[in-house]
Amino acid sequence: MKVPTICRYCGGVIRLVPAESVYGSSAKRLGMQDENLYQCQNCNARVGCHKGTNCPLGNVANEVLRLKRIETHQAFDSYWKRRHMSRTAAYKWLARKMALSVQSAHIGGFEMDQCQKVIDLCRNEKEAA
Ligand SMILES: [Zn+2]
Repeated sequence: MKVPTICRYCGGVIRLVPAESVYGSSAKRLGMQDENLYQCQNCNARVGCHKGTNCPLGNVANEVLRLKRIETHQAFDSYWKRRHMSRTAAYKWLARKMALSVQSAHIGGFEMDQCQKVIDLCRNEKEAA
């Protein structure tokens, strides 16, 4: 994934910042105390990094897309936990369904349409089960 430098929403400058500067004391609870984020210095659009690296998970997200990514994560997590899948197996399933490599199948980097597709997949499979 290309490192974002200019915000796609507002054209502001994107900088790599410590997660702590965004999440404050919650960074520890979120397991992100040593992680960095890319953040637009103008409008606060942001995206996380692959754990332990400065490689962005995807493009920066504004608040609407961030909420969508959170909703998607909840649908996905409850899907695989309900089925007693391992986390690894769940991400393999996700990658296959999304026609992505396991390395790039990160909801934290998904766009709106990809998020919706995951939500639909998790719902449809639930009905079929
Ligand atoms: Zn911006």
